[in-house]
Amino acid sequence: MSVLIKGGRIVTAADDYVGDVFVDNGTVAMLGQSLDVAADRTIDATGKYVIPGAIDPHTHLEMFFGGTTTCDDFTSGTTSAAFGGTTTLIDFCMQTPGDTFPQALEKYFEKIERAKPVIDVGFHIGVTDLHTGGTLEDLAKLPDEGVTSYKLFMAYKGAVMVDDETLFKTMQTASETGALVMVHAENGDAIDIIVKKAVADGHTEPIWHARTRPPETEGEATNRAIQLAHVAGAPLYVVHVSCKDSIDPIAYAREKGWNTYGETCTQYLFVDESALDQPGFEGAKYIYTPPPRPKEHQEHLWHALHADVLSVVSTDHCPFKWPEQKGINGEAFNVVPNGGPGIENRLHMLHHFGVREGRLTLNRFVELTSTNVAKYFGLYPRKGTIAPGSDADIVVWDPEKRLTISAQTHHSNVNYNLFEGTEVVGAPDVVLVRGQVIVESDELVAQPGAGQFVKRARFGEELLAREAVPA
Ligand SMILES: [Zn+2]
Repeated sequence: MSVLIKGGRIVTAADDYVGDVFVDNGTVAMLGQSLDVAADRTIDATGKYVIPGAIDPHTHLEMFFGGTTTCDDFTSGTTSAAFGGTTTLIDFCMQTPGDTFPQALEKYFEKIERAKPVIDVGFHIGVTDLHTGGTLEDLAKLPDEGVTSYKLFMAYKGAVMVDDETLFKTMQTASETGALVMVHAENGDAIDIIVKKAVADGHTEPIWHARTRPPETEGEATNRAIQLAHVAGAPLYVVHVSCKDSIDPIAYAREKGWNTYGETCTQYLFVDESALDQPGFEGAKYIYTPPPRPKEHQEHLWHALHADVLSVVSTDHCPFKWPEQKGINGEAFNVVPNGGPGIENRLHMLHHFGVREGRLTLNRFVELTSTNVAKYFGLYPRKGTIAPGSDADIVVWDPEKRLTISAQTHHSNVNYNLFEGTEVVGAPDVVLVRGQVIVESDELVAQPGAGQFVKRARFGEELLAREAVPA
């Protein structure tokens, strides 16, 4: 199957020109102007952008958490992602305490077998326990399986939080195996004390979710993780940075040239603390962690994206239904499962409020949502760019298409949307994964199973084009 995408404005992290892309057998075969080549299918991209498919390195599909399971499986979650222009996601394979790492991985392979993805999928391993099931020896073997990032939680005491010993030992292992360490950076011990006191004092409304997790507790943990990773010699990726307190230590480390990277998520750029403060218990829809911050932090986040202190925007899609999952324990904020949806609208929001409003260049938009993710997580240059030999994961983006974001029309199973009613201009027209059209004219045209598991390269290594790898 070959596809010729004609006359589009081809935009990568580095390039921006009008041309044609010839796709053959799943990969980009040729780039040029007015290519005269026969193809099974021709797509007219005149007036459209032709960009690398976006990669979301932060999703939680079919994950058991907070006493319930996120409401998107790998079919519905990847379908929703595809409609937003995302062609690969990397989900967190969480170790249930007591399980070995091979057992944890096996359970996630069963999930993508049972609910097959429509886009490509990779896994990070979520390290929660090195005492009863998980061993450093098993952890060290995972990069051979293409699982090349270790995620640890410095928060959620009594659930998935790890102590500094587990954190540091994992970092040391990563420095030997070439894995990237990812941290959820918040001081879980301090937050636990503050939460218990607030609840004992009768403060149970959703706004107290933010009041009990002050920005300093995120800043402290971010700095601790950065310093420890530096001592261990491991590269570090700080997920969902929400505030200036966490940006500052990342800026410090990057100025020193350390292998430190920071991610924020769409919601932190657009939703502020006041969303939690609504009549009834409705603010619980916005109980995700870190919490939405006071509005002034948003400008710091935009600036950090501009200054390359933060270099990825992900979604942290962790969907629970309202009210049946998020409102069920309406009496207290601290028993609401933490997490918010957003897998479909990352590019919509960043294109409209970032590119169109002059905060991001088109190249930077691609870099933040695709290229940098591919580079940090061992997918580049097979993914994250449009170049000869790379996978033909391509979005034909219509910069003039109008969309009103709504839970009525999004494709996730979740029944609310953090950006409900927001009108944006710019949306995908055609989405291809390895040369196969997945979404076209607002219809899913692929079957579950179109997506595959991707084995990723180690940090700093390249994932070569499939043709370049011996079979
Ligand atoms: Zn998360």
